[in-house]
Amino acid sequence: MSPIATQLQDVRARIAAAVQAAGRQPDAVQLLAVSKFFDAECVLEAWRAGQSAFGENYVQEALDKMTVVRAAAPAAKIAWHFIGPIQSNKTRQIAEHFDWVHSVDREKIARRLAEQRPAHLPPLNVCLQVNISAEDSKSGLEPTELLAVAQAVVAMPGLRLRGLMAIPAPTEVVQEQHAAFQRLRELAAQLSAQGIACDTLSMGMSADMDAAIAEGATIVRVGTAIFGQRQRDSI
Ligand SMILES: *Cc1c(COP(=O)(O)O)cnc(C)c1O
Repeated sequence: MSPIATQLQDVRARIAAAVQAAGRQPDAVQLLAVSKFFDAECVLEAWRAGQSAFGENYVQEALDKMTVVRAAAPAAKIAWHFIGPIQSNKTRQIAEHFDWVHSVDREKIARRLAEQRPAHLPPLNVCLQVNISAEDSKSGLEPTELLAVAQAVVAMPGLRLRGLMAIPAPTEVVQEQHAAFQRLRELAAQLSAQGIACDTLSMGMSADMDAAIAEGATIVRVGTAIFGQRQRDSI
Protein backbone atom coordinates (compact mmCIF):
# COMPACT_ATOMS: atom_id res chain seq x y z
CA MET A 1 0.00 0.00 0.00
CA SER A 2 1.16 3.55 -0.68
CA PRO A 3 1.87 5.75 2.36
CA ILE A 4 -1.18 7.86 1.52
CA ALA A 5 -3.43 4.79 1.33
CA THR A 6 -2.08 3.54 4.66
CA GLN A 7 -2.55 6.89 6.37
CA LEU A 8 -6.02 7.23 4.91
CA GLN A 9 -6.88 3.85 6.37
CA ASP A 10 -5.54 4.95 9.76
CA VAL A 11 -7.58 8.16 9.66
CA ARG A 12 -10.72 6.25 8.74
CA ALA A 13 -10.13 3.90 11.66
CA ARG A 14 -9.61 6.87 13.98
CA ILE A 15 -12.87 8.44 12.77
CA ALA A 16 -14.74 5.15 13.17
CA ALA A 17 -13.47 4.77 16.73
CA ALA A 18 -14.46 8.32 17.66
CA VAL A 19 -17.87 7.88 16.05
CA GLN A 20 -18.47 4.68 17.94
CA ALA A 21 -17.25 6.14 21.24
CA ALA A 22 -19.74 8.97 20.76
CA GLY A 23 -22.57 6.54 20.07
CA ARG A 24 -23.20 8.08 16.65
CA GLN A 25 -24.24 6.38 13.41
CA PRO A 26 -21.33 4.75 11.51
CA ASP A 27 -21.80 7.07 8.52
CA ALA A 28 -22.36 10.24 10.57
CA VAL A 29 -19.00 11.80 9.73
CA GLN A 30 -17.65 12.54 6.29
CA LEU A 31 -13.90 12.74 5.73
CA LEU A 32 -12.70 15.70 3.70
CA ALA A 33 -9.10 15.15 2.58
CA VAL A 34 -7.31 18.51 2.63
CA SER A 35 -4.84 18.38 -0.23
CA LYS A 36 -3.43 21.92 -0.21
CA PHE A 37 0.26 21.97 -1.17
CA PHE A 38 0.06 18.34 -2.30
CA ASP A 39 -0.02 17.68 -6.01
CA ALA A 40 -2.55 15.99 -8.26
CA GLU A 41 -0.70 12.68 -7.99
CA CYS A 42 -1.35 12.68 -4.24
CA VAL A 43 -5.03 13.41 -4.84
CA LEU A 44 -5.19 10.55 -7.34
CA GLU A 45 -3.48 8.23 -4.90
CA ALA A 46 -6.05 9.03 -2.24
CA TRP A 47 -8.84 8.69 -4.78
CA ARG A 48 -7.61 5.22 -5.77
CA ALA A 49 -7.75 4.37 -2.07
CA GLY A 50 -11.44 5.30 -2.01
CA GLN A 51 -11.37 9.00 -1.07
CA SER A 52 -13.75 11.16 -3.08
CA ALA A 53 -13.95 14.56 -1.33
CA PHE A 54 -11.03 16.97 -1.32
CA GLY A 55 -10.52 20.35 0.35
CA GLU A 56 -8.42 23.13 -1.13
CA ASN A 57 -7.41 26.58 0.18
CA TYR A 58 -6.00 28.36 -2.87
CA VAL A 59 -8.04 28.85 -6.01
CA GLN A 60 -5.33 28.72 -8.67
CA GLU A 61 -3.59 25.75 -7.08
CA ALA A 62 -6.92 23.93 -6.91
CA LEU A 63 -7.92 24.65 -10.52
CA ASP A 64 -4.56 23.44 -11.80
CA LYS A 65 -4.95 20.26 -9.76
CA MET A 66 -8.51 19.66 -10.96
CA THR A 67 -7.34 19.83 -14.56
CA VAL A 68 -4.66 17.21 -14.02
CA VAL A 69 -6.96 14.96 -11.99
CA ARG A 70 -9.73 15.13 -14.62
CA ALA A 71 -7.31 14.24 -17.39
CA ALA A 72 -5.97 11.26 -15.45
CA ALA A 73 -9.34 10.01 -14.19
CA PRO A 74 -12.13 11.44 -16.36
CA ALA A 75 -14.81 9.23 -14.81
CA ALA A 76 -13.87 9.99 -11.19
CA LYS A 77 -16.69 11.52 -9.19
CA ILE A 78 -14.80 13.90 -6.96
CA ALA A 79 -16.34 16.62 -4.79
CA TRP A 80 -14.17 19.70 -4.40
CA HIS A 81 -14.58 21.82 -1.28
CA PHE A 82 -13.13 25.31 -0.97
CA ILE A 83 -11.99 25.88 2.63
CA GLY A 84 -9.59 28.85 2.44
CA PRO A 85 -10.00 32.59 2.90
CA ILE A 86 -12.06 34.07 0.06
CA GLN A 87 -11.01 37.18 -1.81
CA SER A 88 -13.73 39.00 -3.75
CA ASN A 89 -11.91 38.65 -7.03
CA LYS A 90 -11.84 34.84 -6.67
CA THR A 91 -15.53 34.22 -6.11
CA ARG A 92 -16.33 33.56 -9.77
CA GLN A 93 -13.80 30.76 -10.09
CA ILE A 94 -15.00 29.28 -6.81
CA ALA A 95 -18.64 29.45 -7.90
CA GLU A 96 -17.82 27.81 -11.22
CA HIS A 97 -15.53 25.02 -10.09
CA PHE A 98 -16.37 23.92 -6.56
CA ASP A 99 -19.19 21.88 -5.04
CA TRP A 100 -18.87 23.26 -1.53
CA VAL A 101 -17.51 26.37 0.18
CA HIS A 102 -16.84 26.16 3.93
CA SER A 103 -15.34 29.59 4.50
CA VAL A 104 -18.06 32.14 3.73
CA ASP A 105 -17.63 34.85 6.34
CA ARG A 106 -19.33 37.90 4.79
CA GLU A 107 -22.71 38.48 3.21
CA LYS A 108 -21.07 40.27 0.31
CA ILE A 109 -19.03 37.18 -0.55
CA ALA A 110 -22.14 35.01 -0.36
CA ARG A 111 -23.98 37.35 -2.70
CA ARG A 112 -21.19 37.24 -5.26
CA LEU A 113 -21.03 33.44 -5.10
CA ALA A 114 -24.81 33.26 -5.57
CA GLU A 115 -24.78 35.60 -8.56
CA GLN A 116 -21.84 33.83 -10.15
CA ARG A 117 -22.98 30.24 -9.65
CA PRO A 118 -23.68 28.91 -13.16
CA ALA A 119 -27.36 28.07 -13.68
CA HIS A 120 -26.64 24.61 -15.07
CA LEU A 121 -24.95 23.53 -11.83
CA PRO A 122 -26.74 22.50 -8.63
CA PRO A 123 -26.71 25.13 -5.88
CA LEU A 124 -23.33 25.67 -4.24
CA ASN A 125 -23.25 24.08 -0.79
CA VAL A 126 -22.26 26.71 1.74
CA CYS A 127 -21.05 26.70 5.32
CA LEU A 128 -20.67 29.93 7.25
CA GLN A 129 -17.33 30.21 9.00
CA VAL A 130 -17.70 31.38 12.58
CA ASN A 131 -15.06 32.80 14.89
CA ILE A 132 -15.54 30.70 18.01
CA SER A 133 -12.22 31.50 19.63
CA ALA A 134 -11.88 34.67 21.63
CA GLU A 135 -8.85 35.76 19.63
CA ASP A 136 -9.22 38.63 17.19
CA SER A 137 -6.80 37.05 14.76
CA LYS A 138 -9.07 34.27 13.60
CA SER A 139 -11.31 34.91 10.65
CA GLY A 140 -14.97 34.13 10.59
CA LEU A 141 -18.27 35.75 11.44
CA GLU A 142 -18.80 36.86 14.99
CA PRO A 143 -21.53 34.76 16.62
CA THR A 144 -23.62 37.93 16.97
CA GLU A 145 -23.59 38.47 13.18
CA LEU A 146 -24.41 34.89 12.33
CA LEU A 147 -28.21 34.88 12.31
CA ALA A 148 -28.57 37.85 9.96
CA VAL A 149 -26.07 36.46 7.47
CA ALA A 150 -27.61 32.99 7.63
CA GLN A 151 -31.05 34.46 6.91
CA ALA A 152 -29.65 36.35 3.95
CA VAL A 153 -27.88 33.29 2.54
CA VAL A 154 -30.97 31.10 2.85
CA ALA A 155 -32.78 33.54 0.58
CA MET A 156 -30.11 33.51 -2.13
CA PRO A 157 -30.79 31.34 -5.17
CA GLY A 158 -27.70 29.49 -6.30
CA LEU A 159 -26.63 28.74 -2.75
CA ARG A 160 -27.71 26.06 -0.32
CA LEU A 161 -26.87 26.79 3.30
CA ARG A 162 -25.60 23.53 4.80
CA GLY A 163 -24.17 24.62 8.12
CA LEU A 164 -21.28 26.08 10.06
CA MET A 165 -17.53 25.78 9.97
CA ALA A 166 -14.89 26.79 12.50
CA ILE A 167 -11.14 26.67 13.00
CA PRO A 168 -10.67 27.05 16.75
CA ALA A 169 -7.41 28.36 18.16
CA PRO A 170 -5.07 25.37 18.37
CA THR A 171 -4.79 23.87 21.83
CA GLU A 172 -3.57 20.56 23.16
CA VAL A 173 -5.92 20.83 26.11
CA VAL A 174 -8.65 18.40 25.19
CA GLN A 175 -11.32 20.09 27.33
CA GLU A 176 -10.68 23.35 25.48
CA GLN A 177 -11.05 21.56 22.14
CA HIS A 178 -14.39 20.19 23.30
CA ALA A 179 -15.56 23.57 24.57
CA ALA A 180 -14.86 25.27 21.24
CA PHE A 181 -16.62 22.62 19.17
CA GLN A 182 -19.53 22.64 21.58
CA ARG A 183 -19.92 26.37 20.98
CA LEU A 184 -20.22 25.79 17.25
CA ARG A 185 -22.79 23.06 17.81
CA GLU A 186 -24.80 25.38 20.05
CA LEU A 187 -24.73 28.13 17.43
CA ALA A 188 -26.10 25.67 14.88
CA ALA A 189 -28.83 24.70 17.36
CA GLN A 190 -29.72 28.37 17.79
CA LEU A 191 -30.06 28.77 14.03
CA SER A 192 -32.22 25.70 13.93
CA ALA A 193 -34.43 27.19 16.66
CA GLN A 194 -34.86 30.22 14.39
CA GLY A 195 -36.09 27.97 11.60
CA ILE A 196 -32.79 27.71 9.72
CA ALA A 197 -32.15 24.02 9.44
CA CYS A 198 -28.55 22.97 8.93
CA ASP A 199 -27.18 19.48 8.46
CA THR A 200 -23.46 20.20 8.54
CA LEU A 201 -20.90 20.97 11.20
CA SER A 202 -17.51 21.26 9.52
CA MET A 203 -15.07 21.04 12.41
CA GLY A 204 -12.01 19.06 13.40
CA MET A 205 -8.60 18.71 11.76
CA SER A 206 -5.70 16.27 12.18
CA ALA A 207 -4.95 17.34 15.73
CA ASP A 208 -8.46 17.65 17.13
CA MET A 209 -10.84 15.55 15.03
CA ASP A 210 -11.58 13.18 17.91
CA ALA A 211 -12.99 15.98 20.09
CA ALA A 212 -14.86 17.42 17.10
CA ILE A 213 -16.53 14.09 16.38
CA ALA A 214 -17.53 13.73 20.02
CA GLU A 215 -19.18 17.17 19.77
CA GLY A 216 -21.13 16.43 16.61
CA ALA A 217 -18.88 17.16 13.62
CA THR A 218 -20.39 15.89 10.37
CA ILE A 219 -17.35 16.79 8.24
CA VAL A 220 -13.77 16.61 9.49
CA ARG A 221 -11.15 18.37 7.37
CA VAL A 222 -7.94 16.36 7.54
CA GLY A 223 -4.69 17.15 5.76
CA THR A 224 -1.50 16.27 7.62
CA ALA A 225 -2.70 12.92 8.96
CA ILE A 226 -3.39 11.75 5.39
CA PHE A 227 -0.77 13.43 3.22
CA GLY A 228 1.98 14.18 5.72
CA GLN A 229 3.59 17.40 6.85
CA ARG A 230 3.19 20.32 4.43
CA GLN A 231 6.35 21.92 3.06
CA ARG A 232 5.08 25.47 2.93
CA ASP A 233 2.59 26.09 5.63
CA SER A 234 0.05 28.77 6.19
CA ILE A 235 -2.08 27.16 8.89
C1 LIG B 1 -5.09 23.11 6.19
C2 LIG B 1 -6.47 23.07 6.72
C3 LIG B 1 -6.99 21.90 7.32
C4 LIG B 1 -6.19 20.64 7.52
O1 LIG B 1 -5.33 20.78 8.62
P1 LIG B 1 -4.44 19.56 9.15
O2 LIG B 1 -4.00 20.02 10.47
O3 LIG B 1 -3.33 19.39 8.18
O4 LIG B 1 -5.31 18.35 9.21
C5 LIG B 1 -8.32 21.94 7.73
N1 LIG B 1 -9.08 23.03 7.59
C6 LIG B 1 -8.62 24.16 7.04
C7 LIG B 1 -9.51 25.33 6.91
C8 LIG B 1 -7.30 24.21 6.60
O5 LIG B 1 -6.85 25.36 6.05
